[in-house]
Amino acid sequence: MSALISVVAPVYNEGPGVERFVRRLTEVLTGAGLRYELVLVDDGSGDDSWDRIVRQSLLDRRVRGVQLSRNFGKEPAVLAGLEHASGDAVVVIDSDLQHPPTAIPAMVKRWREGAHVVEAVKRNRTGQGLIGRLGGRLFNRAFTGLTKVDLIGATDFRLLSRAALDALLRLPEHSSFFRGTSSWIGFRRSTIEVDIDHREGGGSRWTIRSLFRLAVNGITSFSSAPLHLVTLVGMAFAAFAVLLGAQTLIRWIGGGSVEGFPTVILLLLVMGTFVLLGLGVIGEYLARIHEEVRGRPRYLIQERADGLSVPEEWTA
Ligand code: UDP
Ligand code: MG
Repeated sequence: MSALISVVAPVYNEGPGVERFVRRLTEVLTGAGLRYELVLVDDGSGDDSWDRIVRQSLLDRRVRGVQLSRNFGKEPAVLAGLEHASGDAVVVIDSDLQHPPTAIPAMVKRWREGAHVVEAVKRNRTGQGLIGRLGGRLFNRAFTGLTKVDLIGATDFRLLSRAALDALLRLPEHSSFFRGTSSWIGFRRSTIEVDIDHREGGGSRWTIRSLFRLAVNGITSFSSAPLHLVTLVGMAFAAFAVLLGAQTLIRWIGGGSVEGFPTVILLLLVMGTFVLLGLGVIGEYLARIHEEVRGRPRYLIQERADGLSVPEEWTA
């Protein structure tokens, strides 16, 4: 039997987008003659996304659904999907059709040629405001610089072989960062270029706040450079203080008057800022340690739809 491709997609309040996505994907994958399963993870949607997923799973045995017990966020939703995928290779894709499904056959081809991780790299950046674009670029630069894990142009749209997926699932982290971890694992890689489409149906499900959390999580789970930076800044201040102290002492011994009230205020402000920033940085790491130590499950499942169980209210 030919290889099974699992397609994993997180769904959060996508409404009619669910059918649009399933239809589009079915077209492309059956058109390419692939044997596949589609794992749709409902990330605690507040709309009728789950009902739509259940209906799709009843219409097509290849469609399966997993419903999380609340909105856990895209990262845990993707993880839930990955843990439910049974294919020989798995493709993670957004369900809003911003990631072009037409690229999947090309990714599968690369996998057949021996690649374990096939990343879709964006050629353009449509469907994002100026702030999002700048913020994204700044984050990718900072992340790449701090961690040596290259994220320039990276997306979550990628294919993993079974071996790479099993390696990824062995990572014990609770707040994972798929784009980073799927690069960190290594394995033979390959990239293809894609054009990111405009979002169909509503705006981005991310808020500035959730994006900021993702960025902080990503960086703190991959690099302790910010902590070292705090140490370095502290050392620079200490050196400066010693020099300034020596200069003041010499002037005092020489009988000169010591003045500089504004300088004192300024120094206090600067020091205060750095102390608080430093504490904040340490706090972020502490929060992550706290989260990991608590060891709560990364997501909880409320219901599954495998196309076999018909909901009771439908049989009446
Ligand atoms: N998503 C999710 N949980 C969330 C936010 C988003 O599962 O809390 C899903 C969403 O349904 C979509 C994908 O993650 O399939 C990407 O979300 P979105 O398109 O809003 O983000 P963007 O394209 O702006 O990165
Ligand atoms: Mg999107």
